[in-house]
Amino acid sequence: MKRLTSVIVILFAVCANAKDLPKVVILATGGTIAGSAPTEVQAGYQSGQVGVDILINAVPQLKEIADVRGEQISNIGSQNMSDEIWLKLAKRINELLGQDDVDGIVITHGTDTMEETAYFLTLVTKSKKPVVLTCSMRPSTALSADGPLNIFNAVAVAGNKDSEGRGVMVVANDRIHSAREVVKTSTTAVETFMSPLVGSLGTVNYGVVNYVDLPHKKNTYESEFSVDGLTSLPRVDIIAIYEDAPGDLIKAAVDLGAKGIVTSGLGNGNLTDACIEALQYARSKGVVVVRASRVLTGFVGRNVELDDDKLGFVASYELIPSKARVLLRLALLKTSDPTSVQEYFATY
Ligand code: ASP
Repeated sequence: MKRLTSVIVILFAVCANAKDLPKVVILATGGTIAGSAPTEVQAGYQSGQVGVDILINAVPQLKEIADVRGEQISNIGSQNMSDEIWLKLAKRINELLGQDDVDGIVITHGTDTMEETAYFLTLVTKSKKPVVLTCSMRPSTALSADGPLNIFNAVAVAGNKDSEGRGVMVVANDRIHSAREVVKTSTTAVETFMSPLVGSLGTVNYGVVNYVDLPHKKNTYESEFSVDGLTSLPRVDIIAIYEDAPGDLIKAAVDLGAKGIVTSGLGNGNLTDACIEALQYARSKGVVVVRASRVLTGFVGRNVELDDDKLGFVASYELIPSKARVLLRLALLKTSDPTSVQEYFATY
């Protein structure tokens, strides 16, 4: 009888504990975190080989910090991330965030396009509940794979009450970044994700979360962008500007149906004369032009070395070309007026 009572007490404690743990859903999309290589010490590997259950089971410690379940959204290298997967992912996140039995979401993703996916999601997901992307630089089979601790930390962030209302975040290598600010800065280093302009939102060390900042611009529950009923996004091309860059690639993009062009410009978003002329052609066809910079940090201002007012161009302000493209695509769903698009760049 005494034994039975102890078993009941233990069972009760386990159940109560499970009930108290935050409920986190892991949505897997692929990437190196789900990659595998034939040996533990080689650079060559294939992304997106391992399913979500294997990722979760590789980190049994998750059970101590959250009630976790997984769903497979895709299993690709993020160099092949697509609008179709973005829309599927964003719609599923919004569905899950609307459920009482979901407290937070973790998305496992490749590092190559994670900064774009994160920014897209922070503009179109609609909740204060935490949404956290994570990744790895080393495949799951590598010596000192970084994926398991990143997943553990991401789940800790997604299940933390302080994470609410901080927009979509990226957790990698003990840092918590805001989706808008984070950039991949190294092709190979584990310490690749940085927020060069404003710094990270905080740190997470073996699951211990410490915030020092909030996102600086509107996001998630405050955002006016939505994927409801959306089946496609307008075409926006990024054109690289360099010494003696000609304008014909810009004209080709326009003729191929681009609705917007983002320039990865020089310095403060500067352009060669040939490119300015081609961009005037783009404007004459109603294409919205956003000047960004190939320089990793800084501010692209209006009317600095060229007359944006006269040319009808938009300045990207703090957004790097890949993120400027994301915002322009969503803005184009609402307007093609450069003044209104410029307003979006000030707000988001
Ligand atoms: N190519 C991989 C990807 O983005 C790289 C990575 O995940 O680190 O999916």
